[in-house]
Amino acid sequence: MICVSCQTAKTQLRCGSCESPVCKNCAQILDEGTFSFLPQRPKKLIHDIYCNNCFDQHIAADLESYNQTMELAKAVHIFDKTQGKETRLMKRRPENRVVVENCTDPDEAVLRLAFMAVQSNCNAVVDVDISATKVKDGSYSKRMWRATGISSQFRTK
Ligand SMILES: [Zn+2]
Ligand SMILES: [Zn+2]
Repeated sequence: MICVSCQTAKTQLRCGSCESPVCKNCAQILDEGTFSFLPQRPKKLIHDIYCNNCFDQHIAADLESYNQTMELAKAVHIFDKTQGKETRLMKRRPENRVVVENCTDPDEAVLRLAFMAVQSNCNAVVDVDISATKVKDGSYSKRMWRATGISSQFRTK
């Protein structure tokens, strides 16, 4: 197959969206794990390889806002269950409860909570509780993490 983009390179790759052959140099290849924090990954974002056209049309804007959300998530204020004193004035709405399950890494579990908080325009997560369960994986067992909390607003004076 000949790349649709440069029309010279031979390639085995195809754009996941329009299925045009596209060479390694012309393809937009998403890093592993891109968009993995979205609770529901939209259909148009499930592919890993895109031609430039499809990338600009379907992916670029979403990727930019995803990366922005991720940056904000890293700055979200996290308060665990023992910090009730600091957070006693912060709102806890039942619909703002966030839960992450089956995460292999506790830090990632908390970051995922923060990501969801940003998606609902919050800048903090309160009452954060993380717990691990041991799961058998073949001959050894690994820990799977669960994190819960409530998205809220933290105001600095
Ligand atoms: Zn090419
Ligand atoms: Zn394409």
